[in-house]
Amino acid sequence: MSAFNEETVLSVHHWTDKLFTFKTTRDKSLRFSNGHFTMIGLRVNDKPLLRAYSIVSANYEEHLEFLSIKVPDGPLTSRLQHMKVGDKIIVGRKPTGTLLIDYLLPGKRLFLLSTGTGLAPFMSIVHDPATYEKFEQIILVHGVRQKDELAYHDLLVEHLPAHEILGELVTSQLRYYPTVTREAYKNMGRVTDLMETGKMFEDLGIPSLKSEEDRVMICGSPGMLRDLKHMLEGRGFVEGNTTRPGDFVIERAFAEQ
Ligand SMILES: Cc1cc2nc3c(=O)[nH]c(=O)nc-3n(C[C@H](O)[C@H](O)[C@H](O)COP(=O)(O)OP(=O)(O)OC[C@H]3O[C@@H](n4cnc5c(N)ncnc54)[C@H](O)[C@@H]3O)c2cc1C
Repeated sequence: MSAFNEETVLSVHHWTDKLFTFKTTRDKSLRFSNGHFTMIGLRVNDKPLLRAYSIVSANYEEHLEFLSIKVPDGPLTSRLQHMKVGDKIIVGRKPTGTLLIDYLLPGKRLFLLSTGTGLAPFMSIVHDPATYEKFEQIILVHGVRQKDELAYHDLLVEHLPAHEILGELVTSQLRYYPTVTREAYKNMGRVTDLMETGKMFEDLGIPSLKSEEDRVMICGSPGMLRDLKHMLEGRGFVEGNTTRPGDFVIERAFAEQ
């Protein structure tokens, strides 16, 4: 059996000239956990051109959804950004990754800290009823440069709290904290700074981080991961992985060249 399924593009939405989302069909045999990533791509000259992508859609949904950067000279995304409804993409049959609530020790609050396309895996996690069962409060933080890069903002603020099944859980348990670094916005600054200075906790009206009861997932640039890991370890948090649950888990939103 092939390591890939071929899927059909169902819709494409461009957030900005650097960011877009697309939905595809989902082979019934594809299994994944919320927070997983898989390899996706295109056939170029009869060879697969593949990159890792977090899955935005929840594992109970009929379709697949991805959030993608557009790298001007990027081998995959310079092509992927021109995709149209009805086009084919290939999707790896073996999703994997460390951003699973199962890889965290029990806790009271769950912090989901993201920058850029690092939001993607957290979209499936905030659509998972198990997240709200395991944690009393979920704080979703998304840092971007410009406010039009706040993908899924309206879904998080308006649609998810009104969701037929999840709405009540979301309204009482999910807090969303978008922040922007390069233009005026209600929350401004880098995620790391906003946490270190305590500004984010003040704005949300919640207590600061405690390793005894808080759990953290991080998905962002290699620099953001390094800084936040350092900050958390300095506060006594222990990193978890696929074999040993911990106080926090990390995934790169992309690899530096
Ligand atoms: C575990 C994992 C999960 C990933 N999930 C996603 C995802 O959900 N969505 C997504 O768009 N990308 C994601 N990526 C990055 C993705 O695999 C590709 O790098 C990206 O699609 C660009 O592909 P490319 O061939 O066009 O350029 P590449 O040659 O792969 O990348 C060129 C350069 O562009 C920059 N870059 C690449 N991806 C990003 C990004 N997402 N944000 C900012 N800068 C970037 C980096 O500097 C990189 O060196 C993920 C990477 C990893 C390791």
